[in-house]
Amino acid sequence: MRTAPFEYHRAQDLDDALEWLAGDGDRDVKILAGGHSLLPLMKLKLATPTVLLDVQDVPELRGILLESGWVRIGALTRYVDLTRDATVGDSLPLLSQVAATVADIQVRNRGTIGGSLCHADPAADIPAAVLALDARLVLVGPRGERRVNLDEFTVAPFLTVLEPTEILTAIEFPIPLQSQQSTYLKRPHPASGYPVVGVAITGDASPHEPLSNVRVAVTGIGPKAYRAEKTEGTLKGQVPTPELFRAAADVAITEANMSDEPDLSYREQLTRVYVERALYQFYGGVA
Ligand SMILES: Cc1cc2nc3c(=O)[nH]c(=O)nc-3n(C[C@H](O)[C@H](O)[C@H](O)COP(=O)(O)OP(=O)(O)OC[C@H]3O[C@@H](n4cnc5c(N)ncnc54)[C@H](O)[C@@H]3O)c2cc1C
Repeated sequence: MRTAPFEYHRAQDLDDALEWLAGDGDRDVKILAGGHSLLPLMKLKLATPTVLLDVQDVPELRGILLESGWVRIGALTRYVDLTRDATVGDSLPLLSQVAATVADIQVRNRGTIGGSLCHADPAADIPAAVLALDARLVLVGPRGERRVNLDEFTVAPFLTVLEPTEILTAIEFPIPLQSQQSTYLKRPHPASGYPVVGVAITGDASPHEPLSNVRVAVTGIGPKAYRAEKTEGTLKGQVPTPELFRAAADVAITEANMSDEPDLSYREQLTRVYVERALYQFYGGVA
């Protein structure tokens, strides 16, 4: 399979990339990061950009920086870097755990956190960690910089609020309290590894204490990854019991947007089972 013809430009820095994106309006410019989503789409002719803007040399999109109260992760950071970086491992173990579950080593060696979020595949893993860790996305365009959370950023499957002239430069994660526990549990698709359902949980927890600051994020179900806020409400302030886990899992299926799912009862059952199992896994890490 061949792509349609395109022009290739390798941007030297952020200004250069923004200049090409602003263009003269005649060209359809697409950013190329790891290429693991974009290139297959181009081969299938589902994407036919006239210019491929390779951003791999743009220094402003690189690096993992510990700032006061935040970890700033450049959009070009690959999954493999998230699994190996000491700052991520120490401060954001959930992100490391989630990245390690993505596909296989070939995909993890090329795929980037920014590419995953901008592609907005409803079955991607990374959005579960980004929602559960309450991160914000930094978008830069001709009018300057803006920050949005992932729920605002992702509009629908494969659609985001990113303007054609903007770039996602980084994702900023607040550093969690020392007391924060976290976990991720997914049912991987047997062929691709994509989550058929994935559940990320964060919270301040100890075995016989009420749970606080809990966040539950679900991916793979519905048009985009979402925070299960009613499920969080069921868990908040409660001491963990099997009955509580079952009740929370029952609530989780009521707030999933499954109206377009063809296999509704299977999806409901999967969501219920994986939320419940993720809660056992979460408390297993605490005890
Ligand atoms: C065999 C296979 C298995 C996979 N399994 C999984 C899996 O288990 N879990 C999972 O979550 N994903 C999976 N994926 C998807 C993979 O993780 C994504 O393709 C990848 O993360 C996208 O990142 P990329 O760097 O390759 O982006 P690219 O393909 O380069 O770009 C994707 C899109 O984002 C845009 N873009 C990229 N970076 C930016 C930026 N900084 N600013 C603005 N726009 C940008 C591009 O223009 C393009 O539209 C799989 C993919 C393959 C091929």
